[in-house]
Amino acid sequence: RAKNYGKNNYQIYSPQLNIRSFKQYHLESDLRKSIENNELVIYFQPRIEATTGKIVSAESLIRWMHPIWGEVSPKEFIPIAEENGYINELGDWILKHVCLHLKKWEKEQLPIVPISVNISAQRFLKSDWKSVILEILASTQVNPELIEFEITETTMIQHEKVTKAAFQTIREMGIKIALDDFGTGYSSLSYISDYPIDTLKIDQTFIKQITKSTKEEVIIKSLIYMAKGLDMNVVAEGVETIEQLNFLKQQECQEIQGYIFSKPVPEKTFIALLKKQIIKPILYHESKV
Ligand code: C2E
Ligand code: MG
Ligand code: MG
Ligand code: MG
Repeated sequence: RAKNYGKNNYQIYSPQLNIRSFKQYHLESDLRKSIENNELVIYFQPRIEATTGKIVSAESLIRWMHPIWGEVSPKEFIPIAEENGYINELGDWILKHVCLHLKKWEKEQLPIVPISVNISAQRFLKSDWKSVILEILASTQVNPELIEFEITETTMIQHEKVTKAAFQTIREMGIKIALDDFGTGYSSLSYISDYPIDTLKIDQTFIKQITKSTKEEVIIKSLIYMAKGLDMNVVAEGVETIEQLNFLKQQECQEIQGYIFSKPVPEKTFIALLKKQIIKPILYHESKV
């Protein structure tokens, strides 16, 4: 078998590709040890009420501090976990630790807000998901109304039947449901209205087009309008500029999430923000550099 790996087979013309697959290979095996090695950290990004500037919620976002590669983006390792089946264990760990954070904040009498947790729709394919969630809720004693699950539109469509039934069960548990990255999955709002969805998160790619493309602005306007008609809460994701913020306020978009208010931050910083309760927009220039 080793013969197959003779030097003629090496892709020496593409060193970048080789480094990539080398990294991928190591990340994949290291990921399974990330929990026991304490390399995972949960960050929080505030969701701001557009009219008041108040923090009304926050999204939990996982960070992997790898001893060699440094901070690895979830965009890089979540797909790996979804592929190699580790996503369930990882997702359960994240949910449990979000609940533990909530409980801790409650004990410290902080002005807590609901926290949203990204859930891979794949979780609902394995039948133990319900008992695992119930066990986490029971052991941490967290009020389920403080939790919202974010499921991407794309994966919801991929696992249509399973997610529909799962959403119903989640609702019965008292947990809220948000549809993430909305607008990228090519479903229609009339189709969405069949699902028990509390929140619609408009994808960043639309927000980036504000003041740049009238077409995208029209889409955002009608998304906000229709979501409201369907009694859903609307969140704009990836808001970076004052122009985007003003446009969204004008369209009466309820909630804003983006660097203009805060990047995802570690717990300590998040608690400091919670104590202040109100955040002012800051000029965010990184994208222009
Ligand atoms: P997402 O759920 O759509 O999360 C929003 C992403 O947009 C986050 O990236 C956040 O840092 C980024 N973001 C927020 N505001 C801005 C902005 O103003 N400008 C820009 N350029 N970006 C902004 P992040 O943390 O790198 O996460 C990427 C994706 O990885 C998430 O997208 C989600 O799909 C996945 N992910 C992250 N944490 C988890 C997790 O705990 N579980 C699962 N299953 N997936 C996760
Ligand atoms: Mg999300
Ligand atoms: Mg999103
Ligand atoms: Mg995303």
